[in-house]
Amino acid sequence: CGIFGVIGVADAANFVALGLHALQHRGQEAGGIVSHDAEQGFNSARRFGYVRDNFTRQSLMETLPGPLSIGHVRYSTAGGKAPVIRDVQPFFGEFAMGGAAIAHNGNITNADALRRELIERGSIFQSNSDSECIIHLMARSLQRNIPERMEDALRRVEGAFSVVAMTRTKLIGVRDPLGVRPLVLGQVGDGWVLSSETCALDIIGARFVREIEPGEMVVITNDGVESHRPFRPAKSRFCIFEHVYFSRPDSIIGGRSVYETRSQIGIELAREAPVDADLVCPVPDSGTPAAIGFSQESGIPYAMGIVRNQYMGRTFIEPTEQIRNMGVRLKLNVNRALIEGKRVILVDDSVVRGTTSRKIKEMILDAGAKEVHFRIASPPTAWPCFYGVDTPQRDKLLAATMSEDEMREHLAVDSLKFISLDGLYRAVGEASGRDAKCPQYCDACFSGDYPVEPSDQIEKGFQL
Ligand code: 5GP
Ligand code: SF4
Ligand code: MG
Repeated sequence: CGIFGVIGVADAANFVALGLHALQHRGQEAGGIVSHDAEQGFNSARRFGYVRDNFTRQSLMETLPGPLSIGHVRYSTAGGKAPVIRDVQPFFGEFAMGGAAIAHNGNITNADALRRELIERGSIFQSNSDSECIIHLMARSLQRNIPERMEDALRRVEGAFSVVAMTRTKLIGVRDPLGVRPLVLGQVGDGWVLSSETCALDIIGARFVREIEPGEMVVITNDGVESHRPFRPAKSRFCIFEHVYFSRPDSIIGGRSVYETRSQIGIELAREAPVDADLVCPVPDSGTPAAIGFSQESGIPYAMGIVRNQYMGRTFIEPTEQIRNMGVRLKLNVNRALIEGKRVILVDDSVVRGTTSRKIKEMILDAGAKEVHFRIASPPTAWPCFYGVDTPQRDKLLAATMSEDEMREHLAVDSLKFISLDGLYRAVGEASGRDAKCPQYCDACFSGDYPVEPSDQIEKGFQL
């Protein structure tokens, strides 16, 4: 998901709508905005679909006045599978000291246990979302102000959370102790901004100030930014897959351009798994920077062998298997004139179920390619993510049940190679690779090394 918040500018919700539009790649199912205005109090609007189709209408934006606003774009990882508007964030709660709204990116790994406990004690849940636990925990806290209640609540929550919240007068941002999901701070005029990624600061002309640190909570008012440390200190474990796929290539993470990192992955991949061929083609758009790096390092020409229809969303994010299956053809088409008679290297960011790769291979062979070689910009995805990326159950992951050789056979391609985990670490700037004792990132979907125990899942029978 994507989260965004603004304080201290007129009609803050307009900025939030633009910010969410720039974060649309993080969630396309639905979006929501809450604003606060001294006269009207809190207002909210939550809608299915793209930001541009909802939050551009003047009649709607007029209902969201005020200098303080937060928003969320959703892609469902937890909660019910059939999308319902009740699950769309931000969530709002009314406390003795006034209202508060929160927007959450990530996944709470003990949400089932918390929900059971809260319901037993009388909480009335409105949604299926794991994030709603935070509001109920806040309601039960005995602290006297909302930021302190939020600290209380978040100390009980396990897993990955970047949160943007607002009260009548404050904008609040928090990252979990491991900093699994991103959150950055920016400044626009006299106002302040919180955003999942820097690309959404650019769209409103905000200046990047710094990242919110893992385990940090910032409380922002018209007087400035206060920093708190509500959690026990821990070594950070940022999601390495943000670098590979999730973030936008024009964002900066940890001082590194996501685009540069991705093309560096391609360079590493060309060194680790060279192959003689005529063309390097990306599977657009997610494979493009890595393909550029691969071509640069190997000297094999880069070509747009597959063309993407810009009017389709990300395949993976479509919620059902059937739509996902169609999605590939609706979204991608082979550039026949380029491919015919050629030995082609296809570069993609990841293989999850293998649906995309299989379809693309068929399309490329139909177009008359002589050989097809897959090069993948991440290690085999052999484990599900429980921290906010919607990977399917373990038995649906190709790499969980097959060796690399079996995957190559299953996909029926001439060769298939994934970047090594160490190669990936080098590409994100860790010159000596992965520190096996104390990994610098979360890489659980590749390694099975889960930095936070997925306790709800274990209870349901998941085996580490
Ligand atoms: P598959 O077709 O193998 O199930 O999925 C791989 C494709 O899904 C890749 O092209 C990748 O760009 C895309 N993808 C979209 N979202 C995700 C995600 O959350 N995780 C992973 N691993 N791949 C994703
Ligand atoms: Fe990121 Fe993978 Fe960790 Fe999930 S399991 S947070 S996708 S690195
Ligand atoms: Mg892709």
